[in-house]
Amino acid sequence: MTAEQARVANYWDASKKPRTVAPPLAGDVSVDVAIIGAGYTGLSTAYQLKATEPSLKVVVLESETVGFGASGRNAGFVMTLFGASLGLMKTLHGKDKVRAAHHYMERCIAGLEEMLAKHKLDCDYERSGFLKVATSPRYAARIKDEIALLEELGIEGYRWLNVGELAGRVRSPTFLGGCLEPGCGLINPRKWVDALAGLALGHGAQLYERTRVGEVRREGGKFRLVTANGTVTADKVVFAANGYTHLIPGMRSKQLPAFVSIVVTEPLTPEQRASIGWAGREGIEDGRNFMHFYRLTPDNRILMGGGPGFVPFGGRMHHDADPAAWKHLEEFIGITFPTLRGIPIAYRWGGAFSVTADSTPLIGTLHGGAAAYSVGCTGHGVAMTHMNGRILCDLVLGRSTDLTDLWFVNRRAMPLPPEPIGSLGAKAVTAAMALDDWWCDRRQST
Ligand SMILES: Cc1cc2nc3c(=O)[nH]c(=O)nc-3n(C[C@H](O)[C@H](O)[C@H](O)COP(=O)(O)OP(=O)(O)OC[C@H]3O[C@@H](n4cnc5c(N)ncnc54)[C@H](O)[C@@H]3O)c2cc1C
Repeated sequence: MTAEQARVANYWDASKKPRTVAPPLAGDVSVDVAIIGAGYTGLSTAYQLKATEPSLKVVVLESETVGFGASGRNAGFVMTLFGASLGLMKTLHGKDKVRAAHHYMERCIAGLEEMLAKHKLDCDYERSGFLKVATSPRYAARIKDEIALLEELGIEGYRWLNVGELAGRVRSPTFLGGCLEPGCGLINPRKWVDALAGLALGHGAQLYERTRVGEVRREGGKFRLVTANGTVTADKVVFAANGYTHLIPGMRSKQLPAFVSIVVTEPLTPEQRASIGWAGREGIEDGRNFMHFYRLTPDNRILMGGGPGFVPFGGRMHHDADPAAWKHLEEFIGITFPTLRGIPIAYRWGGAFSVTADSTPLIGTLHGGAAAYSVGCTGHGVAMTHMNGRILCDLVLGRSTDLTDLWFVNRRAMPLPPEPIGSLGAKAVTAAMALDDWWCDRRQST
């Protein structure tokens, strides 16, 4: 059984427009740029390259089909979070870099909205805003601290909602207040990745699906990408394999995959919908390290994700189905919205996102600029990745722009240690995060 056949069907797949899957690579081809991975990052890089330099020969190689990875199965939150959390980013990188990263993320959202409008893309986009809700006094204190930090950095647009104000938007007995960020949105992730594929192909990029790159060799100043039935000789290479990057020889230490699960209910009845409010349809996350994230789908189902995520030992990728996590999420719907307790679940799935050693996105070059890569969106790549594609395009073309000058591009980053130290380290960090969640979940005063 291929990874694609083993993949758990997800709600967004029903939005797939019929499309002929591109044939696998057969034989040997020579190109200017070869891109590994047909998710948001790889496809937007291909589109940007062809839009900027139409004469370039650009191929995208995808081991399964377009959007097989996180891009075709995420929750569709279009948000400004950069890296794991605001507090961690400030501790690791300081206030100026947090401010610059936040402005980058605002630019990413604006850029995504511009692309939707310019190309008239129907991706079920809603500028619904984002709510970070507190479910214990300790989370309330942390969220208020984040708002204070943002204000200190001169970043506006965040507002604390008290219990009553929040209940006026969404009704849950677990909410003690929350932060509203109106500038965020929700998208249909499948339609967005298909739209990016359409733009890349429409501008003349070549796509090979069911074509896994097993090896990337450097030979005589060129790259040779080895696949099952053919090779690509390329002047430049872009690694856009995200949570799978460690499986490509030579790229092991750049990132590791972390798995997260999602369930989606049957459509809510008008009575169920009325019982929870949520007229503004905001995307919602709670304050945990292992956060829950939830939203309404275009046809008014509840998508509930997150909770007990994990980093697999040795970077193994067979964890899309996690019955324990699904059970937790189903129960969590009933805890958050008691009127929905027992609502039938129609879809369950999971997938991998990419984490770097310091939980911070990393875009960089290798081989003196002949190769470029992007990893570590840490579960927050929907808004960011199309703009990361612009950065990768600039890097590949050797252009110095305001985007390539950003502090997280070509930053010095800690490599992940070899196994088993890497996996053991990840286990220790995730255990500490879970302990912190347990401590904060206890509904006591701060
Ligand atoms: C369950 C889940 C929910 C999420 N929810 C959100 C959210 O709501 N908001 C948000 O901002 N972010 C979210 N994310 C993260 C977001 O989806 C990702 O950051 C984003 O999709 C990454 O896009 P990408 O193109 O870099 O990677 P991917 O979409 O993972 O694409 C990488 C592609 O590379 C291919 N590939 C890998 N190895 C090879 C190889 N050797 N040869 C050829 N092809 C290869 C893979 O098959 C894959 O298609 C979520 C992630 C998950 C898993």
